[in-house]
Amino acid sequence: MSLFIDHLAAIVGSQNCLTSQGDLAPYLVEERGLYHGSCRAVVKPGSTSEVAKVVALCAEAGESIVPQGGRTGLCGGAVSEMGQVVLNLSRLNRIRSIDAIDYSMVCEAGVILATAQEAALQIDRLFPLSLAAEGSCQIGGVISTNAGGVNVLRYGNARDLVLGVEVVLADGQVWNGLKSLRKDNTGYDLKQLFIGGEGTLGIITAATLKLFPRPREVETAFCAIPHPQAAVELLAIARAATGDAVSAFELLPRIGLEFVCRHIPGCSDPLSAPSPWYVLIELTSAREGGELRAALEIMLEKALELGLVTDAVLASSKEQRSALWRLRESLPEAQKFEGGSIKHDVSVSVSKVPEFLERATKVVLAALPGVRPVPFGHIGDGNIHFNLTQPVGTDKAEYLEEWERMNRIVHDIIADLGGSFSAEHGIGQLKLGEMEHYKSPLELDLMRKIKRALDPKSLMNPGKVVRL
Ligand SMILES: Cc1cc2nc3c(=O)[nH]c(=O)nc-3n(C[C@H](O)[C@H](O)[C@H](O)COP(=O)(O)OP(=O)(O)OC[C@H]3O[C@@H](n4cnc5c(N)ncnc54)[C@H](O)[C@@H]3O)c2cc1C
Repeated sequence: MSLFIDHLAAIVGSQNCLTSQGDLAPYLVEERGLYHGSCRAVVKPGSTSEVAKVVALCAEAGESIVPQGGRTGLCGGAVSEMGQVVLNLSRLNRIRSIDAIDYSMVCEAGVILATAQEAALQIDRLFPLSLAAEGSCQIGGVISTNAGGVNVLRYGNARDLVLGVEVVLADGQVWNGLKSLRKDNTGYDLKQLFIGGEGTLGIITAATLKLFPRPREVETAFCAIPHPQAAVELLAIARAATGDAVSAFELLPRIGLEFVCRHIPGCSDPLSAPSPWYVLIELTSAREGGELRAALEIMLEKALELGLVTDAVLASSKEQRSALWRLRESLPEAQKFEGGSIKHDVSVSVSKVPEFLERATKVVLAALPGVRPVPFGHIGDGNIHFNLTQPVGTDKAEYLEEWERMNRIVHDIIADLGGSFSAEHGIGQLKLGEMEHYKSPLELDLMRKIKRALDPKSLMNPGKVVRL
């Protein structure tokens, strides 16, 4: 055991400084199995001051740090390499304060997202960030990745939901930026550097989060639509007809529904006839009185007349609502049963989604005959998970070797349409190459300058987001 490890253990307690291979193993696993980590130690501090002491010690010793939340990130950002120190935030799990009048709460980094949502509901408020990994991902992780999820359309992504942050900087100083101000026009908005920074500029130890009125009415509909153009037109109509009450608007292709019904127990097609595409619409309102249901029914009638919707089912209970959401949220899991999947987390402006889907589908089918495109996701934000399932009967490993070639084909179309090659999952290590290919040299240069200014020894999650 080295002196450095002894010092780490003295800060966090020996039971929270893990070094044996058996103890380290769970912290090295990555969500998609694309990477396998290695590290020197996993430390689990229990307070901001312990985080600060660990970071100061690492800075002095020149040891690099990989911050880690719930390890649900999809770009390998929390995966460490040999010799690195993993700084796991899960013990910083207190909700420090919650204020119904200010519509805000202060959560430590290790608070599980679902716990934060529940705490808000307890005081009749809503913390709207919601995604399928909410039972495992942590507040520090969702802020560091600027996570999106299913309610971005109405409430914005993590960046829009943070009023302040507390950060341990690369030299171990603590910046207390935990303000809960709605207005603060005092120069550079420093918190924005750490939101979406993926742990490369500092370690978020706590954040002040925005809350909203708790919805009193929720209406959910699963609609069959003829094509993606109908989806974007339907969204425009739904927003206007419901007074912008649309909080989620998700796209699902027929093949996706088939995968879910085939592989996820308890899932079945809720409509009587197959349709090439579907959208899951959710409306929410903080008012009671049944107006939302009426607005949804009127809007769907109009959409049926216009041919934008061919059939629809409306949830009439909490259980039915969950069953409809399961069709959408189980899709990534269901895809795993069909073999390898080459993923794209892309965005274009909403009106360009149909053109993107048409062009990208045509080109990938020509490049790799038999490949099965499964485009789904947050079409209301222009964000599509353009996932490509391997052709039937082919070898998974061989198929996955096509990853970079297919990425280039799809991302070139995205670039041509003025879109983003990473809409909500971030960069991590997975998309470093795409970053260098598609970001302008000027933007990369600015990012490197920021990185060097805040982390001159490059010890904070090096090799992620931007290569120096
Ligand atoms: C089933 C599933 C569904 C998902 N759906 C969505 C979705 O709809 N939208 C979406 O945006 N994402 C989604 N994700 C991705 C993932 O859940 C998010 O990226 C999430 O925000 C990661 O949080 P985490 O706590 O697991 O972070 P980790 O995976 O542990 O870390 C992610 C990154 O943040 C850094 N980090 C973690 N904590 C801190 C901290 N306290 N300070 C500084 N840096 C830190 C890590 O170093 C790493 O770079 C999904 C993932 C899964 C598995």
